[in-house]
Parts: sequence; structure tokens; C-alpha cells
Amino acid sequence: MNPAADPTTLATAPGSQVMPTNHLAWPFFDATHRELATALAAAAPALTGNLDHRETREVVDANCRTLVKRLGAAGFCRYAVPAAHGGALQHLDSRALCLIRETLAYHEGLADFSFAMQGLGSGAISLGGSAALQQAYLPRVARGEAIAAFALSEPEAGSDVGAMATSARFEAAAGGAEGGSYVLNGSKTWISNGGIADFYCVFARSDEASKGARGISAFVVDANTPGLTIAERIDVIAPHPLATLKFDNCRIPASQRLGEEGQGFKLAMQTLDIFRASVAAAALGFARRALDEAVARSRARPMFGGKLADLQLTQAALGEMATLIDAAALLTYRAAWQRDAHLGTPQERTTKEAAMAKMTATENAQMVIDRAVQLFGGMGVQSGVMVEKLYREIRALRIYEGATEVQKIIIARELLKSV
Ligand SMILES: Cc1cc2nc3c(=O)[nH]c(=O)nc-3n(C[C@H](O)[C@H](O)[C@H](O)COP(=O)(O)OP(=O)(O)OC[C@H]3O[C@@H](n4cnc5c(N)ncnc54)[C@H](O)[C@@H]3O)c2cc1C
Repeated sequence: MNPAADPTTLATAPGSQVMPTNHLAWPFFDATHRELATALAAAAPALTGNLDHRETREVVDANCRTLVKRLGAAGFCRYAVPAAHGGALQHLDSRALCLIRETLAYHEGLADFSFAMQGLGSGAISLGGSAALQQAYLPRVARGEAIAAFALSEPEAGSDVGAMATSARFEAAAGGAEGGSYVLNGSKTWISNGGIADFYCVFARSDEASKGARGISAFVVDANTPGLTIAERIDVIAPHPLATLKFDNCRIPASQRLGEEGQGFKLAMQTLDIFRASVAAAALGFARRALDEAVARSRARPMFGGKLADLQLTQAALGEMATLIDAAALLTYRAAWQRDAHLGTPQERTTKEAAMAKMTATENAQMVIDRAVQLFGGMGVQSGVMVEKLYREIRALRIYEGATEVQKIIIARELLKSV
């Protein structure tokens, strides 16, 4: 097939890709995980198929809505919330989240994104919401009927979360009645699902006199709340819904606060602690797909009287790619297993292990995908070819939920604490 005639050309035939699952034999998993991964591997081609691959904002928004509905109907969004509120497993299970993200990323980046945001966007409700808030939001997330978002970053507060300036001023109810409300002012940027979300978990400074991580509280804000607007949609190299939000005297009932006042920073970090390892898993899925594409292309591409795969420099590249993937997988599932196996104990905090996994898996995936592009030659940079798409998909993962530089500092900080 002439790739110029069909820009969606893949090295492997569409729909025929099956993600390698040899790693399921590793001791990190139990039977539940193996069943989940096997079921999703079989369902993924249909779940992620039949999408419009144009990358306009409208098409990408529509694809995300479709994917959330499909993942919800098939029962996979249930892994994004705990069982008490419609979830599949008793607690948010790090290994299940990782296996789902890895498999979806292998097939379709937007499917991974849509699933991940259901968990990240509702994580603060699962971890710190009142029973009423959990019941109001989580079952809809689990069914794929409500789209979630996580609003932490600000124009002046990315890596430096403590520089957050969005304020949440408390106002007591008139006449000394119970309740009261918070009035939010400020802006949040780089918010995934911004523009299509039904609600946002927003972190804001409820004690304006405080500095850094102190005095921050978390709130769940419905997308249609007066005073909350989408100030700008942001287009990025691998398009997905992303926006800057503006809060202009946005009033919400005090009952929408998640956890205690002043506990918002802790809640944000606890949420990220769970989902950081799953970013590593998504990177792993992208890298596995790139390797499979590269192997298929190397076997098929005629060169110098043989095939590209016959050349030792090709073999060296493939050997290195496979090893980078396994190293990343071991760190990813070590972090996920450690958290799951130690829930409720001090070892549950896998800050260092999750940071090692996120840093290594995203950096390794970038190298693997870059080599896959190189092995494809000119076709590797042709719009719509799978490795070109993967090359764009992987880039942001080295930046969001803590850039690689930040992960190095986190690891060192934990190391210095312990010696
Ligand atoms: C595609 C995408 C989706 C996102 N989705 C969300 C979302 O849903 N919700 C949300 O709240 N945020 C989201 N973000 C924001 C993301 O978390 C931030 O981009 C990230 O935290 C980095 O912040 P920044 O962009 O302000 O970069 P900066 O903080 O300005 O960082 C710039 C550079 O400084 C480096 N750096 C940071 N600290 C140090 C240090 N101590 N020493 C040396 N160098 C350092 C960084 O590694 C980076 O290379 C998203 C971002 C992207 C790109």
C-alpha cells in the first residue's frame, strides 16, 4: 500500500494489533489483574475503533465523549472509582489503573487520556469527598456519564504548585444559618478536559494570608456554575481537550469542599501519588506499540537485497528498545504493586518509586519512539502514520504530573530523608 495515498497506514494491519502480555506472568499481579488485562486486550480494538482521525478541536472533543461513553458502558471506567460508589474494586487499585492505561495507550492515545482523566479528575472526591459528594459524582464517573477534570496548575504555578494564586473566600450564610459558601477568583491553565468536563476538582487558596502549600483547599465545581468560564482553549501537538479556566466571583456552596479546609494540597499530592505510576504505564503502552510497529516494518522493508531487519544496526536498535521497555515496565509495576500491597500502612506512600517509574518510563518511551521513527525512514514523519502520532503523543508525558526534572528532585529528597 502506498502510504502517501492512505495516511492512516500502519506497519501492522488495523485492528489486528494485540498488545504483548508476557509481563502478566510477573509476580506483581494477581488473578484479578490478569483477567482484567486479558479482557481489555480483547475489547480494546473495538473500543478504540471507528473514530474520526481528523485532529480538529470539534472532532477530538467528540471522540473523547464517545470514548468515555464506550469505556463506561463496557465497565472499564469502574476502575477509576472505589467499589462503594460504583467502582469495580474496593479501593483505587494502582495495578488495574496501570494495566488499563498501558493497554489503551497501545491502541489509541485519546482512549488512554479519556480513561485517565475519569480517575485523576475524580480522585480527590474518592479520597476526600463527603459521602454526599461521593454519591453525587462517582457513580456517574464510573458509568461514563460524567466527564471529570483536575484543576491544579495556574499560569504562574506549574512545577511550583505553592505559588497558587486562585482564591476561595469563605462567606458565612446569612443570619447565622449553617453552610455558607466559597467565592472563587483566579485562573487555572493546562486543564485537561477543559471545555468538555461536567465538573472540575479545583484547588484554591482558602487562607489568602498563607503561603506555599498551606491554606489550600479543594472543591468540586460543576462546569455550569455561574462565574466559571472557559477563557481559552489550548491546542497542543497531540490534540486533546485542554483549556484555561477563569473564575470570576464563582460562588459554590461550602458543601462542595473536599476534605477539611487547608487540606487541599495534601489531597492533590495524594491524588498525584496514585496516578503518577499510571502515567508511566501509558508511556509503556506507547513504547510497546512503537516497538511492534518497528519490528513489523523492519521485517517487511526490503533493503540491500534483504530486509531492514537483517542489518545489525537495526537489530541493535530493536534490542535496545525492548530493554528500555522492560526496564520501564519493571519500575512501573514495582511502584503499582508496592502501593496496592501496602494500602493502609506507611509503605503505601510510594512517592520515590512512582517518581522513578514516571521518569524512567516516559524518558525511555521517548527514546524508543524516536528510534521507531528513525527505522521508518521518511514514512516515520508522515502525518497520520502510527509512529509519527506516537512521537507527538509521548512528549507531554515528560512534562505533566511533574516534569522529569521535578521527579529527580523528588527521588533525591526521599533518598536524603532516609540516610
Ligand atoms: C498536555 C498537558 C496536560 C496537562 N493537564 C493538566 C491537568 O489536567 N491539570 C493540571 O492541573 N495541570 C495540567 N497540566 C499542567 C502540567 O502539570 C504543568 O505543565 C507542569 O506541572 C509543568 O508546569 P509549567 O508548564 O508551568 O512549567 P514550569 O513549572 O514553568 O517548568 C519549566 C521547566 O522548569 C523545570 N523545573 C521545574 N522545577 C525545577 C527545579 N527545581 N530545578 C530545575 N528545573 C526545574 C521543569 O522541569 C521544566 O522543564 C498539563 C500540561 C500539559 C502539557
